[in-house]
Amino acid sequence: MPGGKARGRTRILRPSRRRQKPIFQSRSVYRADLHCHSTCSDGTLTPVELLELAKEKELSAISITDHDTLDAYSEDVFQKSKELGVKLYVGVEFSTRHKKFPVHLLGYGVRKTPEILEFCRKHQERRLNRNREILEKLKRLSIIVEEEELGDPKDRTVGRPHIAEVLLKKHYISSIQEAFDRYIGEGKPCFASGESFTSQETIAVIQSVEGKAFIAHPHLIKKREILKDLLSMDFDGMECYYGFFHRTHEEKWLRIAEEKDWLVSGGSDFHGSITPHIQLGCSWVDEERVKAIFGEL
Ligand SMILES: [Zn+2]
Ligand SMILES: [Zn+2]
Repeated sequence: MPGGKARGRTRILRPSRRRQKPIFQSRSVYRADLHCHSTCSDGTLTPVELLELAKEKELSAISITDHDTLDAYSEDVFQKSKELGVKLYVGVEFSTRHKKFPVHLLGYGVRKTPEILEFCRKHQERRLNRNREILEKLKRLSIIVEEEELGDPKDRTVGRPHIAEVLLKKHYISSIQEAFDRYIGEGKPCFASGESFTSQETIAVIQSVEGKAFIAHPHLIKKREILKDLLSMDFDGMECYYGFFHRTHEEKWLRIAEEKDWLVSGGSDFHGSITPHIQLGCSWVDEERVKAIFGEL
């Protein structure tokens, strides 16, 4: 329930809960969804379509945090953001590893320098190798998916969701979820972890281009030891509002961020029709949080 997300924001907004009208419908409320994906990685809407949808949903700002790529941030897209009056903040989501466990990091406000573009390129290369490994394992089970069927990696970051789509199209499975549950999810027979950068080195890269490094969706880090290690690293902040988090979840992460004096981010992790239950703007942060991350609005 999107209205439910409005409840967990800040003390300033809480009185609005008493109103019958959900707070998210009010134009006067600043809302920024700082986590969503476009067709440049595994989302189904183009960056421009995301901005148009944000406008429709009366969001004040978004950050398109595609996996391992900054391709969404072209001149045209910034131009569109201006036209629509929906502010666009630069963001990216990197898949990293800490002690062999996958950890997603968000980088906000990074400058598009040759160094970060090279870092993204290396990520793409590693991802391609990982895809090949997965396709090889599927082949051993007589499930044939050719690399070309996944689409051109120059057009988008190709990963497991795209493999799942092809499996669905070829009727090997009956839902995207089934692909992960039976074959390509972590611990399943065709899973491959691939090589990736460590969380620590990714933080350094993000900060070297004036970006701020955040732990993405911390609730997905199930291993205590990993979370404990991450909390001792030099992050700038943590994603405390996410998708359909229950309010008590938000409070737990907010408390930790406060203790560490970290910034707070939040967003939906909207991917379009791949995840129809998650709507753009179902989770968001207010003006104050955005200012703290990106500076003046
Ligand atoms: Zn993620
Ligand atoms: Zn994401």
